[in-house]
Amino acid sequence: MKIMFRRNICLFGNLSVLVRVYNFKAFSSTESANCKVRVRFAPSPTGYLHLGGLRTALYNYLFAKGHNGAFVLRIEDTDQSRIVPDAMERLENDLIWAGIEPDESPSKGGLYGPYNQSDRLPLYSDQVKKLLDSGSAYHCFCSDRRLDLLRREALRLRQVPRYDNRCRGLSQEEVQDKLKRGEPHCVRFKLESHVETFTDLVYGNVSYDVTQNEGDPVIMKTDGFPTYHFANVVDDHFMEISHVLRGVEWQISTTKHILLYKAFGWEPPQFAHLPLIMNPDGTKLSKRQGDIRVESYRRDGIFSLALVNFVTNAGGGFSRDMDGVKPRIYSLQELSSQFDLKRLNAHSCRLMPDRLDEFNRLELQRQLTDEKETAALVQRIKQILTETFQDKLENQSLLLQDDHIRSVLLWSQKRIHRLTDLVERNLAFLWVLPSVSSLPDIVNDDKLGMLMELNECLTKIPKSDFVKEHLKSLLRDFASQRSIQFGQLMKLLRSLLSGLKEGPGVAEMMEILGPDSTASRIESAIAVLKSRREKTEMCKQDSAV
Ligand code: GLU
Repeated sequence: MKIMFRRNICLFGNLSVLVRVYNFKAFSSTESANCKVRVRFAPSPTGYLHLGGLRTALYNYLFAKGHNGAFVLRIEDTDQSRIVPDAMERLENDLIWAGIEPDESPSKGGLYGPYNQSDRLPLYSDQVKKLLDSGSAYHCFCSDRRLDLLRREALRLRQVPRYDNRCRGLSQEEVQDKLKRGEPHCVRFKLESHVETFTDLVYGNVSYDVTQNEGDPVIMKTDGFPTYHFANVVDDHFMEISHVLRGVEWQISTTKHILLYKAFGWEPPQFAHLPLIMNPDGTKLSKRQGDIRVESYRRDGIFSLALVNFVTNAGGGFSRDMDGVKPRIYSLQELSSQFDLKRLNAHSCRLMPDRLDEFNRLELQRQLTDEKETAALVQRIKQILTETFQDKLENQSLLLQDDHIRSVLLWSQKRIHRLTDLVERNLAFLWVLPSVSSLPDIVNDDKLGMLMELNECLTKIPKSDFVKEHLKSLLRDFASQRSIQFGQLMKLLRSLLSGLKEGPGVAEMMEILGPDSTASRIESAIAVLKSRREKTEMCKQDSAV
């Protein structure tokens, strides 16, 4: 037993006022030695995986791995009308991409399957029957029209709309009669009216009388499918889930779930609700960060471990918070050994959007320290290059060489955040010739001659000397010997090498382009300048005639 400083929360009736009372309480450790940890991520396939879902899945996974437990993926598809056809496969793909591989899942199977709720209907029917038999549930024949009228009346009286539990009062005979006549019905659970308290491993004690806000909830719908609340409780029990880690928006439902556990005579799992993730200014995440689907980060060139570190960087939960300020990338293994529910903040956590790029750069740098991962990056860049430039690539046989790409990567690792930055505007010159139209309008013989001389000079340098420092001093000497302004020479060279007005230093550009590409760019500029001169001369002759 550890003495922990926890908070107590009471959710009071209609007002849902959260009262936090700080107290000391004896807190039995979640890591209780003899408890086998089994956790689950239980998305509904009504959309794709977004940052909030990723965080929930991730924390469940880290918690399981940190305790030698199992991480289960369960698909909660009982609301058939809201199912998005390919959401399930995409959810699992996104999880696997993020490194969060389930131990049991619909595609992987496992001892506690099936893992899609729609395949477990007979189990729910059996369990509903148990509650009906024990008197904890009852058939409800109220029509949609009646329920709608109830709702409207409550709103008119400025009350919380809730079912008035009318069918609780039906006699056995009435029920049997209606069932015989085939009247449409659902099954409702009898809520007990009293303040139920549970210990949230993040928020402390939570007390709530659910009947203050709700009528008896439906557990089996008219279509024969269970509702989320019922299926969730039945599955967590039969799948032997030891800890439920889920978003705090579900905290309000937990007392209802506990009442269901009680009605069955089952031991509930332990609950830990994860605080909301917000923008830095406290607004809803999707408002400012736009598309927060994992898939879109993936498409935009974010590395999975960067996204994982980004998501785990806000809201506490890890001992690394004590490490100091220097950000770094942690592996999933490191994160799981550091993850501790007791370190999670109970207030909403704020994600700093700029940090994602920073984490992506750190992850790129980390991958570049590993042979195998670098080789994979090189292949990925080849793919990006061919997709982006196709036959516009300057010199395919040279540029697509692994060694060349590797050296570009090493050079650019402090300049870029994503691999795709390598083909963006100010680095595209690495792969394609700058357009001729970007050449400054210099047609006089002086500059043409000077370029030819410079080209000759550069071709004489041994390959090993074709490096930034050496090239820089060579260019300085070249300018001073010919009384050319160094700044002007740099402007000209930058423009013909890259088509850019600013960007990396000219000597640096030359080094990274290498001697062949540098020479061919200078030569093609020479050719353009020559043809411009010829044209001007022809015009002059024409006008003289
Ligand atoms: N199906 C629920 C969801 O999509 C799961 C909530 C829970 O984890 O209990 O969020």
